[in-house]
Amino acid sequence: MFFLFCSFICKGFVLLKAKPQPTIHEKILMTKQNITVLLANPRGFCAGVTRAIQIVEKALEKYGAPIYVRHEIVHNAFVVKELEKKGAVFVSEIDEVPEGRMVVFSAHGVPKKVLEKTKSRGLKYLDATCPLVEKVHTEVKRHNEAGRKVILIGHAGHPEVIGTMGQLPDGEIFLLDEVKDLERLDKDTVKDAALVTQTTLSVDETAELKEFLKAKIPGIVCSSKDICYATTNRQMAVKEIAPKVDMLIVVGSPNSSNSKRLVEVAVRAGCANSVLVEDEKQLDWDKLAKVKTLGITAGASAPEKLIKSILKALRERFKITIEEIGKGETRLRFNLPQELEGPKKPS
Ligand code: SF4
Repeated sequence: MFFLFCSFICKGFVLLKAKPQPTIHEKILMTKQNITVLLANPRGFCAGVTRAIQIVEKALEKYGAPIYVRHEIVHNAFVVKELEKKGAVFVSEIDEVPEGRMVVFSAHGVPKKVLEKTKSRGLKYLDATCPLVEKVHTEVKRHNEAGRKVILIGHAGHPEVIGTMGQLPDGEIFLLDEVKDLERLDKDTVKDAALVTQTTLSVDETAELKEFLKAKIPGIVCSSKDICYATTNRQMAVKEIAPKVDMLIVVGSPNSSNSKRLVEVAVRAGCANSVLVEDEKQLDWDKLAKVKTLGITAGASAPEKLIKSILKALRERFKITIEEIGKGETRLRFNLPQELEGPKKPS
């Protein structure tokens, strides 16, 4: 009996001894708060942004620095700084580009008079206007040729809106920024009108405004799908995530229209605690300490690198589990200007 008792104690001791002790890393993890991260898919770069950045990079490779860029190539401070390091010089107007230098127009598009001025100065230029913004420019010209008054739904002062308005002479396009702007519409406009929109608006709010306009202006010709695929898909993913999270982070710069819309869409879809941050340095750790489920997305001009830095910073403080939410997106590629595409491969 005594022998059996001793043997039991010894086995227990061996078992106790054999149990692996947690490593320091595991101990830290055990004390860390759990956060489930719902990561939007799609998020970040769209085909138009990728193309615009590639145009600047390839122009730098082919023609050498400096390459001048009129306005921020895309609305993201990180992207702009990275291109500056490579030799891009960002200017506000064509007058600032020295003689004989190459200038690139941003993804938002330019008014016709900017193009004319560039040509009249004999500057070499590359146009990084997104093809989906160009599509709206083409619609504007088509409606104008057909004798319709063009109404543009968009945000006053945004470069894309300035570029689209600038496809026709001053005063030809009626800008509708808010519903109360409709009070300024004259009777002639109401007779024969066509509607186009900025590419980065809120899908739902614009649909409501369109219905309102259709009721007010019977027979108005509405262009379909001016809001681009990237804006639409990123908003859809946010709508799916917002009702499930305590907080939602949109990565993007404050001047990025589609990023700001993502915050608004998230608030509308049920996450009042939705914020826009440029990078991990802007995270509010006191607020995050109260969060159990966190949504993360990025505007179409924000690089994936910024999301990775945010996830790394979160991992240092919390135990995070990541789940991707959304229908994803087919990867699109827009062609570069012919002179940058390189030699065609023999077929
Ligand atoms: S957000 Fe849309 S319109 Fe703007 S660059 Fe991307 S694809 Fe083009």
